[in-house]
Amino acid sequence: MEDCIFCKIVSGEIKSDFIYEDDDIVAFLDISPKAPVHVLIIPKEHINAVYDLGSSQEKILGKIHLAAQKIAGRKGIRESGYRLICNNGKDAGQEVEHLHWHLLGGKNLGGLIEKS
Ligand code: 5GP
Ligand code: ZN
Repeated sequence: MEDCIFCKIVSGEIKSDFIYEDDDIVAFLDISPKAPVHVLIIPKEHINAVYDLGSSQEKILGKIHLAAQKIAGRKGIRESGYRLICNNGKDAGQEVEHLHWHLLGGKNLGGLIEKS
């Protein structure tokens, strides 16, 4: 995907320090952190969102969660807790249309959904 920011991060066109990488996924710090720990975990392959996942991509989902477990351990928030968020589409506020999970922690994150 030519205009996708996260594809450019995966390819190295946009420089970013990976805090985790394997054959299928990478993780890096969010540019605008919403918590003391705010990591983005993404598949290397461009997939718009969960609604575009196919059964051949099943393995990626498990790997995302295992990577999250490792990253939380490295960041020292395994015991204190953390939240994994995957926004899908407009109502969820998805800004970058490349499937990703936010790993947030390092403080009490409060309620799940902001009151409006
Ligand atoms: P979304 O709202 O799509 O779930 O989250 C997209 C996230 O990507 C936001 O938290 C935003 O701060 C982050 N982001 C957008 N552009 C970049 C970038 O170029 N580099 C990094 N590291 N994060 C980005
Ligand atoms: Zn992409």
